[in-house]
Amino acid sequence: MPDAPHSPASTPLAAIHGIGPKYAELLAKLGLFTHDDLLHFVPRRHEDRRHLKPLSEAQEDQTITVRGKIHSAKPGRWGALKLEITVGPATLSNSNDLVVARWYGFRPYGIKEGSDVFLYGKVNRDKKGLWAMKQPDYEIAHEDAESYIHIDRIAPIYNLTEGLTQRVLRRLMYEATQRTPFTAPEFYPAPSSMIPREEAFRKIHFPESWPAEERARQRLAYDEFFVLQCVVALRRLSHVSTHRQRAKRAGDLAQRWLDSLPVKLTNAQRRVMQEIDGDLMQGPPMNRLLQGDVGAGKTFVAIYAMLKAVEAGEQAALMAPTQILAEQHAINLRRWFEPLGIRVDLFTGNTKNKKGDRLQGGELDLFAVKHGTSKVATDVPIGSSPKASGSVVIGTHALLYDKYAADKLGLIVIDEQHKFGVLQRLALSRKGQNPDILVMTATPIPRTLGMTLYGDLDVSVLDELPPGRQPIVTKCRSVKELDKFWAFLLKQIGEGRQAYVIYPLVEESEKVDAKSVKAEYEKLQQLLPGAKLGLLHGQLDAAEKERVMTAFRAGEIQVLLSTSVVEVGVDVPNATVMLIENAERFGLAQLHQLRGRIGRGQHLSYCVLVGETRSLESWRRLKIMEETTDGFRIAEEDFKIRGPGNIFGTEQSGLPPLRFASLEKDFDLLTRARTDAALLIREDPTLSKWPGLREKMHSGGASAVSLVAVS
Ligand code: ADP
Ligand code: MG
Repeated sequence: MPDAPHSPASTPLAAIHGIGPKYAELLAKLGLFTHDDLLHFVPRRHEDRRHLKPLSEAQEDQTITVRGKIHSAKPGRWGALKLEITVGPATLSNSNDLVVARWYGFRPYGIKEGSDVFLYGKVNRDKKGLWAMKQPDYEIAHEDAESYIHIDRIAPIYNLTEGLTQRVLRRLMYEATQRTPFTAPEFYPAPSSMIPREEAFRKIHFPESWPAEERARQRLAYDEFFVLQCVVALRRLSHVSTHRQRAKRAGDLAQRWLDSLPVKLTNAQRRVMQEIDGDLMQGPPMNRLLQGDVGAGKTFVAIYAMLKAVEAGEQAALMAPTQILAEQHAINLRRWFEPLGIRVDLFTGNTKNKKGDRLQGGELDLFAVKHGTSKVATDVPIGSSPKASGSVVIGTHALLYDKYAADKLGLIVIDEQHKFGVLQRLALSRKGQNPDILVMTATPIPRTLGMTLYGDLDVSVLDELPPGRQPIVTKCRSVKELDKFWAFLLKQIGEGRQAYVIYPLVEESEKVDAKSVKAEYEKLQQLLPGAKLGLLHGQLDAAEKERVMTAFRAGEIQVLLSTSVVEVGVDVPNATVMLIENAERFGLAQLHQLRGRIGRGQHLSYCVLVGETRSLESWRRLKIMEETTDGFRIAEEDFKIRGPGNIFGTEQSGLPPLRFASLEKDFDLLTRARTDAALLIREDPTLSKWPGLREKMHSGGASAVSLVAVS
């Protein structure tokens, strides 16, 4: 076998022994078309099927491996095949050495009386008091002890598709990874301490030991990180060499605004503004991530940066993840900007609907630009007089897809970053002439994720809350204690405060056992007579949503029942109570965001999480919210429990799927890959020596990130 020509990894499956048209079709259902696909098909997990156990040590319900001789093979009841197997040097006279194995509906291949077999499965005492195994995995013992596939080894367990059994797939994978030669060339200079790629592929499937499995996984994980980090390093490099035309700043808008501020900036705010100054003074476009916990005062920083752009005769755009937030920002910013003679336009997805063009609402006189026509943005000459221009535009992601303002756009601020993926960010940076980008997030980003997703950004941190904030009192409670809560709530609104009540669902659902905001709205109207309730959820049309939010801000609504649409950024300082029902259905980072809606004024605030008490695990998770208001710790905990996909949503995060690497576990590996990748890119930015690496960066998952970088 060693001298057989190595099959290139792209070899079709049919070339692998044992894979005919029938299996090829089944494998296609799993997305497997080439030899390479099989190599990359990571086992879901491995099972340790070594360690033969004498039956005398077995316990009820234990999964064990035994070896024995088939003493009898007979049809059992209900079409079962019943085997009596004596284990070890046993005799039938001692029933303690007997296992009865049954298979239903099929006869295991190759099994007959007298065979020497391994069995792997769960044991239970049957009615006669004998050990019994139901449909155990098995393997006929043979001389060549090296090559057991299913048992007497650490065996891979794969995801299956209908018509393909674990056993068959494992055998095919064994052919593909152990018996059929293949090549997996090194495509970059990997650290010498790591095992070769070829070996890693063989062992990730069929490792001889747990450490061997981990070494294999680390090698392949490192490869994944390395490719991603090369993309990040190249993006940084290309960014640093981007030319950004900078106009001389004419005005003193930013200074005048600072002078007019009724509050004192925090040191952190001042520091970050200086960092932004540094970015804007010279050199390539700003490319900065601003992390700051809920309530840290990111908006002021954004305002500062936007005024700097307007001063320079440019336009600034602020993007928010939801329409509600865009509208709130519009209200907030107009308050600051109008006295300075700067017009603020609101531009939202809503403007696509013909009837939604103009928003209603007393205090709001917002001009919504119609999708695609964006007159304000393109036709108005700006720079000379800020007064005449729509110098500041606020919108949702609708801004991305519009022809809005290509020429004068000088700054894009993205608020609450986690809803915007890398792809969206790229689309943005293509607008205008290399605009400055400031990304703001309140979800503290776990380190590994940050390095991967935002590895190309400079980072500023607002690590200080404005003074005078009251801590939020947080309590986890069971549904039984709700009555007490309603009494408390009535007392609070009696004192003039307002409250949020959050539910996971809009409408009742048969599939999901959780409360819905619509149904509870009906009930609470009975339960809280006299209280002014409001209803908010994503299915309301834009005008209605705005009407509700305006009424809540104005205090006309006392208790706002809502889904998580109020999650980010909403700022009503008089709201001091929040109840979250079915809290176990939310991620911790999301709960933290929700909780951040209260504790914004001078009154003490209370957050009550009503959760499922049946599951200890989810209860413990909720308890973390009682212990800390440190968003960073909460994010790390959430990340450990739920992984990145759940925090950000994989599509949203723009993160390519990682097969071998784990952002939760592999921080050290990632750091190493990052350093090594940066070195390689510095020495050889065109990757002339490593065409395979270039190809990998372009293909597959990394393509999303690499669009700008490598092209
Ligand atoms: P976030 O970082 O969550 O976006 P905001 O920018 O909405 O926070 O600020 C939260 C609240 O704190 C707002 O009401 C804002 O006016 C206020 N605020 C921001 N900075 C300061 C400061 N330096 N001193 C006092 N209040 C501030
Ligand atoms: Mg905010």
